[in-house]
Amino acid sequence: MLQLRRLLSYRSQRASDVAQHKYDVVVVGGGHAGTEAAAAATRVGAETLLVTQKIETIGALSCNPSLGGVGKGQLVKEVDALDGLMGRAGDYAGVHFSILNRSKGPAVWGPRAQLDRGRYREFIQSQLLKMPRLTVIEGSVEDLIVSAADSGKHRVTGVRMADGVGEILAHSVVITTGTFLSGSLFVGRTTSPGGRMGEPPSCAGLSRSLKEVLGLKLGRMRTGTPPRIIKDTIDFSLAKLHLPDPQPTPFSFVNRHTHCKPEDQLPCHLTYTTPGVEKVVRESLHVNSHIQQDTKGPRYCPSIESRVLRFPGRQHQVWLEPEGLTSDLVYPQGMSMTMPPELQLRLLREIPALHRAEIRTPGYGVQYDYVCPMQLFPWLQVKCVQGLFLAGQINGTTGYEEAAAQVQNTSLFTVQQLCGGHVICSRSSVSFQGLWAGVNAGRTALSLPPMSLSRTESYIGVMINDLVSRGVTEPYRMFTSRAEFRTSLRPDNADLRLTLPGFEEVGCVSSQRYSEALRVSRCLSEALIALQSFALSSQHWREKLRHARISEAKSTLISGEEMLQHKEVSFEMLASVFPETFAQYLEFSQRIKIEAVYRPHCENQKREMERIQEEESLTLPPDIDYLSLPVSLSNEVREILDRVRPDTLGAATRLPGVTPAAIVHLLNYVSKTE
Ligand code: FAD
Repeated sequence: MLQLRRLLSYRSQRASDVAQHKYDVVVVGGGHAGTEAAAAATRVGAETLLVTQKIETIGALSCNPSLGGVGKGQLVKEVDALDGLMGRAGDYAGVHFSILNRSKGPAVWGPRAQLDRGRYREFIQSQLLKMPRLTVIEGSVEDLIVSAADSGKHRVTGVRMADGVGEILAHSVVITTGTFLSGSLFVGRTTSPGGRMGEPPSCAGLSRSLKEVLGLKLGRMRTGTPPRIIKDTIDFSLAKLHLPDPQPTPFSFVNRHTHCKPEDQLPCHLTYTTPGVEKVVRESLHVNSHIQQDTKGPRYCPSIESRVLRFPGRQHQVWLEPEGLTSDLVYPQGMSMTMPPELQLRLLREIPALHRAEIRTPGYGVQYDYVCPMQLFPWLQVKCVQGLFLAGQINGTTGYEEAAAQVQNTSLFTVQQLCGGHVICSRSSVSFQGLWAGVNAGRTALSLPPMSLSRTESYIGVMINDLVSRGVTEPYRMFTSRAEFRTSLRPDNADLRLTLPGFEEVGCVSSQRYSEALRVSRCLSEALIALQSFALSSQHWREKLRHARISEAKSTLISGEEMLQHKEVSFEMLASVFPETFAQYLEFSQRIKIEAVYRPHCENQKREMERIQEEESLTLPPDIDYLSLPVSLSNEVREILDRVRPDTLGAATRLPGVTPAAIVHLLNYVSKTE
């Protein structure tokens, strides 16, 4: 609270002055995308102004109080590896940490945490307050100032503020208006203008100038949020207790511990819908305007209405999640709904654990404009407008992580194949959003070349490449299956993939973080070399690691690295029997084990992808029955292939929603049957 008051007074002193300044970068919007953009732009050295409608909502979690998960956890780690705020904010605000997918391999582990809303906001605000070269003001941007540029393009030169505050000039502008651009809120039959409950939408002028002045193609999307339930009115004895991991794992590479002590973590609970829930949904459809709209909603985070209508007769999971350490509210995940409030209450009470539930704030829906992202370069600049960058939900994504990850915009690694830009380093690549938009806006303002990330090097690269090359037909959500090289893009190695180039090439990483990443990288390389050059006979290994019950070895001479590939063998075991060679690396036991296990998989995956590239022109039989093809394909992929019926394998790879793994299965099937 104290931080917030300081922020408010500090900023209000300057609000009247900013109109006379010219900034390197102006960021519009203080949500997840905007805060990371502003922070990233300042880290690359740009004088930055963040303008947002309400300072007190900077860092607000609009919907669920959680961070990470499968695919999204990887994004948080990558944002952190580039020195973004989100991972550290999660470590400060987390109240329930768990690694999802732990029974599967570490490549698809999903670090996740329930958050304390207030603490999350407090952390983000306090970090922004400390940043040199950053000014934050409360206000609303009404319009863009645009002039004509070369070859029929436009150039943005600043923003025009609402309420007569005046014009603010800038070299680059990053727009991160989230759900606020022409936003409308829906509860029952009532529709009202708004970007989030209690907050007005973005000024109409902004949407109009994007569409009419700049000629951009805009679309409409929707999403929703559940009612918040008063904790004391829930009968938790009728729900299943779900405990956090006993030892919380921090998101950030710079943190050894989370702020919340292991024993202070809060539990979640799991319960299910009943036939009564379905009945209320069906009976209330005629008074539920949001659900009657054609606008595309989030497929992977659907409302209870959509779930019931799509899968009638099923029980649906409802997670009861704490909203914070001292909050008296519970967030029922899976129960986003937009029917009238009295029917929301009736619906909740159809669930045994919620039979006497009381609602503090009802659920509601929001519809908003987004800009079709194929109009962007991979460094998130609008193609036809010099100096204008877009990041976050405005680009058709959902989620805090997707928004934050877009904020550092520039082209980290080569953009030349895409746009004839300068070669920045040898790594070929495509793109990245969020934090990336801030980086690139800053770099552009400082006359540095833009940068983009390759999909082979990061999930951020995968996401941005998907957005700018395939576009979106529904809110985009990150999944590990979207990445061709997911065994290399692991949460554990995001620092090695991104922190080093983030410092050396992009300039968005502090020297302190860089030195630590360099140390880690050196130690891991040394440890792997030590493992590879340490070889013993299988007989000898068995004697030394008697208690490990190692399965039969194929070769007679086995390296330490090969030994670690046995499930039963840990690095700690090797270090205990050969301390002189390995004990010095004990600090990195888990990372070394993961590296050793994954190296062969990464190499296989690379070969598979090279094969796909070679087979791009392979013809897919026109009569192929995708719906019953005897290979492992999800129903979603089958439906897409059946609907579009691509001519070649290359065409199939470019279809939104068709995963790299599905392409491998398809290639194997077609090659065999040819
Ligand atoms: P936001 O967090 O929306 O931030 C936008 C910011 O821009 C705000 O601070 C706003 O005040 C500011 N702003 C807007 N216009 C102007 C202007 N003209 N001048 C100055 N400032 C401006 N995500 C999911 O993944 N799944 C869900 O199911 C889901 N449900 C949601 C339900 C609701 C009702 C809402 C509101 C959001 C939901 N979200 C959901 C979205 C989630 O909140 C966003 O993905 C994330 O917050 C997007 O971040 P952002 O930075 O792009 O935008």
